[in-house]
Amino acid sequence: MTPKTFKIKSFGCQMNVYDGERMAELLAEQGMRSVAEGEDADLVVLNTCHIREKAAEKAYSDVGRLRREGSTKPLIALAGCVAQAEGAEAQRRSPMIDIVVGPQAYHRLPEMVTKASKGARPVETDMPAISKFEAFPTRRHANPSSFLTVQEGCDKFCTYCVVPYTRGAEISRPWGDVVAEAHALVDAGAREIVLLGQNVNAWQDGARGLADLIRILAKIDGLERIRYTTSHPAEMNDALIAAHGEVPKLMPYLHLPVQSGSSRVLRAMNRSHTPETYLAIVEKMRAARPDIAISGDFIVGFPGETEEDFEATLQIIDAVRYASAYSFKYSARPGTPAATMEDQIPLEIMDERLQRLQAKINHYQLAFNRSKLGSDTEVLIERIGKLPGQMIGRSPWLQSVHVETDCQAGDLIDVTLVAAGPNSMAAAVRSKEAA
Ligand code: SAM
Ligand code: SF4
Repeated sequence: MTPKTFKIKSFGCQMNVYDGERMAELLAEQGMRSVAEGEDADLVVLNTCHIREKAAEKAYSDVGRLRREGSTKPLIALAGCVAQAEGAEAQRRSPMIDIVVGPQAYHRLPEMVTKASKGARPVETDMPAISKFEAFPTRRHANPSSFLTVQEGCDKFCTYCVVPYTRGAEISRPWGDVVAEAHALVDAGAREIVLLGQNVNAWQDGARGLADLIRILAKIDGLERIRYTTSHPAEMNDALIAAHGEVPKLMPYLHLPVQSGSSRVLRAMNRSHTPETYLAIVEKMRAARPDIAISGDFIVGFPGETEEDFEATLQIIDAVRYASAYSFKYSARPGTPAATMEDQIPLEIMDERLQRLQAKINHYQLAFNRSKLGSDTEVLIERIGKLPGQMIGRSPWLQSVHVETDCQAGDLIDVTLVAAGPNSMAAAVRSKEAA
């Protein structure tokens, strides 16, 4: 039977969220309907992440749960990076999986669904020359803050990471396509666009780089805010740093993963930066935009990491005073060089280091939030809060802000920040923007 309804569950990074939205648009174009929360669907797409072990295990256990929950088994499509890494093996591991589709082959999903509904078990993990982006329909739905993937894949080959294998080589979407998609998103109601890429600051079209793209997007009427993530230190050029000081719509926030503060570990990770070159970028960025919120990624327990190496990571946190950060225990990924390195670190040591690291991160995050107390600023309202009359939005520094207001999602309102917690701020309304 041809499925009439679908549900997409995305795990992992923002690029998966973006891909999930685009797959939904593609399926809707075929006449299928997205189900409401709690409703059974004829087709379930699990849009997976392979970056750490637990994420893949979670996807397989979700497949099992789908079988037990529904009255009839839906068609199950395994999408995303687990699909790319496992290929047909996924169907051997879990015979309930009908479709396996890798991240560069989503444009093939509708025809794969038709085949699967006739009993076939299609697998598509090629990285075709025709980009999936060309097959996606024009954007007709947008969130107040909408994602827009501009760059995919990675050629950096950090020794711990699966991305170069699951997402393929680094490609940039053409300038014209990105600008057209940004216009479509704004027409559909987006007030903020978050440009996405595994190494978004490597985006390039001919002589144009990300800074040029940001400057042109900033001219779009109705678009109020621009962000971009994730940046690689090696691609952080002066033009982009300068844009932070010159383009008011570019928000004062930079996610710049360092991973470790030890030169030795960074070399073993095949990161091209050193603690010194990284700190030099932070300094330049602060000179261009003094209030910038810097965020980062950290891996603790990379093979061979000594207590001294780990302390160097704590030191770089003290030097940067991160406004927020993501931190992970090293997870050995099959097929990556680090997985077979000597001196894999025992779990107890990783746990203990992660706790110490997160205590430090939390300290600076709270300090950053407190430093904004009393500031008059703007919040972009994104959704309804848990309490009556409460709405939740984002400050320019990407803090989650709770505010009592009758404003709607998509409103940009003037507030004063009146309370600071470790993970969020509270604000009082100053005046409502005329819609
Ligand atoms: N391209 C970005 C960069 O290099 O700065 C990061 C993109 S990666 C998808 C997101 C984060 O996942 C990385 O910054 C890293 O901290 C984490 N990560 C990647 N592989 C990992 C692994 N094997 N174990 C633990 N964390 C990992
Ligand atoms: Fe992974 Fe390194 Fe590429 Fe980032 S730069 S996606 S961590 S290989």
